[in-house]
Amino acid sequence: MPATLLKVKQLKKYFPIKRGLMSKAASQVHAVDGVSFDILPGETLGLVGESGCGKSTTGRLILRLLEPTSGEIFFQGNEIFSLSKKKLRSMRRNMQIIFQDPYASLNPRMQVEEIIGEGMLIHGLVKNRTERRECVLELLERVGLKKEHLNRYPHEFSGGQRQRIGIARALAVKPQFIVADEPISALDVSIQAQVLNLLMDLQQEFGLTYLFIAHDLSVVEHISDRVAVMHLGQIVELANSDDLYKQPLHPYTQCLLSAIPVPDPDNQPQRIILKGEIPSPANPPSGCRFHTRCPYKMDICAEIEPEFKAVEAKHFVACHLMD
Ligand code: SF4
Repeated sequence: MPATLLKVKQLKKYFPIKRGLMSKAASQVHAVDGVSFDILPGETLGLVGESGCGKSTTGRLILRLLEPTSGEIFFQGNEIFSLSKKKLRSMRRNMQIIFQDPYASLNPRMQVEEIIGEGMLIHGLVKNRTERRECVLELLERVGLKKEHLNRYPHEFSGGQRQRIGIARALAVKPQFIVADEPISALDVSIQAQVLNLLMDLQQEFGLTYLFIAHDLSVVEHISDRVAVMHLGQIVELANSDDLYKQPLHPYTQCLLSAIPVPDPDNQPQRIILKGEIPSPANPPSGCRFHTRCPYKMDICAEIEPEFKAVEAKHFVACHLMD
């Protein structure tokens, strides 16, 4: 197995904006604009940023649910956008997604047994329905549900239980890699920690690798080995979790961290309030895309785009303050 499970290189996704149905694209939304990162087998990379920054689009590109404008993604050394249909099918089994809204992602007309077991039959992981039922029952128990839940429909469950069904469905096809797209943000706070702990336990047990997408740095702190911070379609900082939380170097990361309450109010960093609107990804600012809101803006920031570079071992930042 290659040292890197997933490699994303200069990934871009632009969505056309049309004025009418038949008209040509008037402009483009730069949803993902030159994103590169690696994920090692068994690790969790947290991908964090405000809504609309391109993190979910990145997740969907990795799963090839979207085609890119340009760039490459290698999974186990194979470039996924040039795979044959047969190889794509096997890759799809190996890469699964857990969605933010567990209710919208479960077919309301299917019973739990079918929802979780559907992929097992499609990918030939079980011989017949009896074997499938046994496997689904095992999975139900593993994610904290009961065997009497087997023949129920999604509407009969709470939000947390539905997310457990979504997790069991992702696990059912024995994947190596899971994109967890804001898997706890739609859940009650009291349930969030339970689902997070479940995901961490399952990672240990099954040797899973996660891309864990969230809009809040506090959510990914405990689950992530490394964290990438995304702003307007680009990664602005990427580091080991410990380094990023102890010594955030990009002003945007510092701002996100300052918004997280800490248990001891005496140690609460001063809140950095950003002024101004989030710029439109259809018309991103010149130079550093954060310059319209950055408290440390310099003249160069509006003119020249900062290079995303290593400033310490395994700590990458795109900011002229680091030049
Ligand atoms: Fe702020 Fe300039 Fe750094 Fe951008 S490059 S984050 S505007 S200091």
